[in-house]
Amino acid sequence: MPKHLPTHLNPRSPLVLDTRELPRRPGVLRTVARTAPAPADLGLELIGVPEGADLSLDLRLESVSEGVLVSGTVTGPVRGECGRCLRPITDSLVVTIQELYAYEHSTTVETTEEDEVGRMQGDLIDLEPVLRDAVVLALPTNPVCREDCPGLCPECGVQWDELPADHSHQQVDPRWAGLSQLTRQEE
Ligand SMILES: [Zn+2]
Ligand SMILES: [Zn+2]
Repeated sequence: MPKHLPTHLNPRSPLVLDTRELPRRPGVLRTVARTAPAPADLGLELIGVPEGADLSLDLRLESVSEGVLVSGTVTGPVRGECGRCLRPITDSLVVTIQELYAYEHSTTVETTEEDEVGRMQGDLIDLEPVLRDAVVLALPTNPVCREDCPGLCPECGVQWDELPADHSHQQVDPRWAGLSQLTRQEE
């Protein structure tokens, strides 16, 4: 049964790997070192790689009997917002990639699902889906500026870090002070 038609890959796209130069002979290796601009929405809601930021690709392409094994690392900057105090987070991330891309019409393609083993389109490999998965897995679901970030005062919304230690909203109204004293006497 035909699955969705693959979108046509652009060999000049920085996240598309062209394996024309890699002989289809098991064991042959090529390395790819390049910088690619990050695609949009690379990450999670509160944290991710800013669109257009430099991603450093340091990859190894190896011919195997039914396709190409891509492994290596991708490094990039991370920007986000602390989920507790909303302060900006600046960080970087390194993700490890290891993925097999099967040749078109290979037995691997016939006998596996697309989500199990990647597919090549002719000589081209689309790195973006695997990169997205790796980045999302590497990012914290609840990003914090630091482990013990105390967050915000729920009453006034000011960062606890900026408030005096005895900060409180339970100030006793002077008009009630007498009454509370009276109550205490009755107890
Ligand atoms: Zn924080
Ligand atoms: Zn407060």
